[in-house]
Amino acid sequence: MTLEEGTVQISELFDIRITNDSGRACFANRDLKKNTDVLCLKKCLGASTCYEFRKEVCSQCFRYEGGRRMKVRLDNKYPKGAGLWFCTENCRDQFLRQEHVDHLTDAYEILLVNWEAQAKKRVGRVDNASNTSASTEEIESLWQDIRDNWITRIDCMKPTKRASQLPIINEDEYVCARFVIHCLFTLETSHASSLQMTAFRNLQSNESSKIMKFPVLLDLQKHVFQTLYILLPSFLRPKFDIPTYRHILGSEYGNSFGIWQNEESSDSREYLGYWVLPEASFFNHSCAPNLIKHRAGNQMVFTLNSDVLKDQELCIDYKDILHLKVDERRRILKENWFFSCECSRCKLETQIN
Ligand SMILES: [Zn+2]
Ligand SMILES: [Zn+2]
Repeated sequence: MTLEEGTVQISELFDIRITNDSGRACFANRDLKKNTDVLCLKKCLGASTCYEFRKEVCSQCFRYEGGRRMKVRLDNKYPKGAGLWFCTENCRDQFLRQEHVDHLTDAYEILLVNWEAQAKKRVGRVDNASNTSASTEEIESLWQDIRDNWITRIDCMKPTKRASQLPIINEDEYVCARFVIHCLFTLETSHASSLQMTAFRNLQSNESSKIMKFPVLLDLQKHVFQTLYILLPSFLRPKFDIPTYRHILGSEYGNSFGIWQNEESSDSREYLGYWVLPEASFFNHSCAPNLIKHRAGNQMVFTLNSDVLKDQELCIDYKDILHLKVDERRRILKENWFFSCECSRCKLETQIN
């Protein structure tokens, strides 16, 4: 079922409707009081921690203790610990209680083993981006080449030979590969008809605008795809194809939320990583938002900061920009989300200036 048919109900408190000027938007379907939680998400599609914080952030609850290394690791089934670190045994046990979790940890471990095996080859290597520009045609032609030539070639090789075709990946690519593995695991273990999967299929992709602005992403996408194509264990393979991979990354560009350190002021807190929560991606931005987003461990809660009337749009602040002047806010939104903010506050402030 598609959103266009008006059938996706993310919450009983609001509806998603198609509007003329801002596409899809969320509207309260009744009068709502300040401090109402309109959405509480307990499961993300995928998450990944920044490379520099990989040992300092709990893989289950994203706890960060000012740079202290997390103490709890997986048991010795995984010599490398699958790159997972936990704040407590309780968090580790919760993580391990996920159904089929060994398929996720196997994939993380294989990626990490490859990452460490490449350490020497990475030394002194400078990333020379082969793409300094990228049009829609160039993006399509890259994928056509991978599909028609690269995959065909790899598929004919013996498994032992394939390893020689692995690209040397950098830190960003490693972090991205972990994110994609997490997403593939969620896709593989979720019901196609679940709310999260329906929302995921309906996410808007910002692939072409993002890559045109940052052509270096094309190399990253290619390297991560090739790495996973060669390394992925069988359980995660069925959902791994070029269209799904491109949809995961294309929708990540416009829809991921930062995982920020909690309990710190917004200018001193650390950016620990990012995650995609498809059901939360239908809120539009406003510079006078009526929703506050708050992370509680691995849950994300969206709470009203004012009373709202039926049919009023529910909006969030995309990037902590409310303290900035209108021109600066609009510039940031344009650069990151490719739209010009026409919210009530921006309109008012441009009239005054
Ligand atoms: Zn934890
Ligand atoms: Zn605005």
